[in-house]
Amino acid sequence: MIQRIAVLTSGGDAPGMNAAIRSVVRCGVAKGWKTFGVRNGFQGLINGTMEPLGTREVGGIMHRGGTVLGSARCDEFKTIEGRELAIRNLNQRGIDALVVIGGNGSQAGANALYEMGFPVVGIASTIDNDLVGSDITIGVDTALNIALEAIDRLKVTASSHQRAFIVEVMGRNCGYIALMSGLAGGAEAITLPEVETDPEQLAKELHKAYEQGKAHAIIVAAEGAEYNASRLTEYFAENRERLGFSIRSTTLGHVQRGGAPGAYDRILASRLGHGAVEAIDREEFGVLVGLNGNNIITTPYKMIAGKVKTLDPKVIELTQILD
Ligand code: ATP
Repeated sequence: MIQRIAVLTSGGDAPGMNAAIRSVVRCGVAKGWKTFGVRNGFQGLINGTMEPLGTREVGGIMHRGGTVLGSARCDEFKTIEGRELAIRNLNQRGIDALVVIGGNGSQAGANALYEMGFPVVGIASTIDNDLVGSDITIGVDTALNIALEAIDRLKVTASSHQRAFIVEVMGRNCGYIALMSGLAGGAEAITLPEVETDPEQLAKELHKAYEQGKAHAIIVAAEGAEYNASRLTEYFAENRERLGFSIRSTTLGHVQRGGAPGAYDRILASRLGHGAVEAIDREEFGVLVGLNGNNIITTPYKMIAGKVKTLDPKVIELTQILD
């Protein structure tokens, strides 16, 4: 019988994490459980910093970006000793199950805890969208819209000055945000970690854009691509005479995830939070709660471990037709 659950957020913060915390707490309370919030991700488990978190405490947080529980990257949790300490603290507080809201690394950590015998359920939350087990993860939609707004604005200034611009977007080793913001923003070229880029070919495409009468050229570069903003800028600077133009670059960095979550992320996070509580109620542990089509599903961690989400080749092809 479940009586007490705890929830934490881990890894990079993602807009919508607060809506997921709120949903886990309120759905848990609706089951008659006591709910606890853990401070600063896995570090808080090791330090034993967890407090009761009730329905009222999670009021007024849904529209805020970031995470009210705090997050951390915690190397100690990667050790058995660190996780033993975490389990001891969880047991001391009488916690029956833990909800881990986070990305790839956080779910690997959650799985490591589960394999040591502690009941865990994960919620797919990262702006990178690199998690197998969910079509889309919490934070992606908001981060995409922020990237898109930046691209739209740069296009205006690029057109006024007949310049080429590189916009570097986040996503670690996954090109999802670059690909989708490039598609939605009508970029002339996109560099991705998943696809090799020939900078000479890219330069030809930019020339072609000008020849077709475009007043601007926007390249969206993924931070994890071989030709990210700095490599591309360097390449164009070194070959300026030959290539015939210079290029300006803008790196969005953390700006991309600081925004208030949009409706899509709030709804997704609320649904995934509910899905996590339902999984705990069924005593279905060692699973990630994610979105498949329009359904909330669970996928066992063992089916996710070590897998990498791939980009849809049809979307890549489409961006090449539309640029
Ligand atoms: P994002 O990609 O959105 O930044 P993430 O969850 O992938 O989020 P990471 O920094 O990769 O972020 O992981 C968060 C934390 O998860 C790590 O700091 C570490 O404490 C824990 N963790 C990661 N991998 C493992 C592992 N193999 N075993 C135990 N813990 C892990």
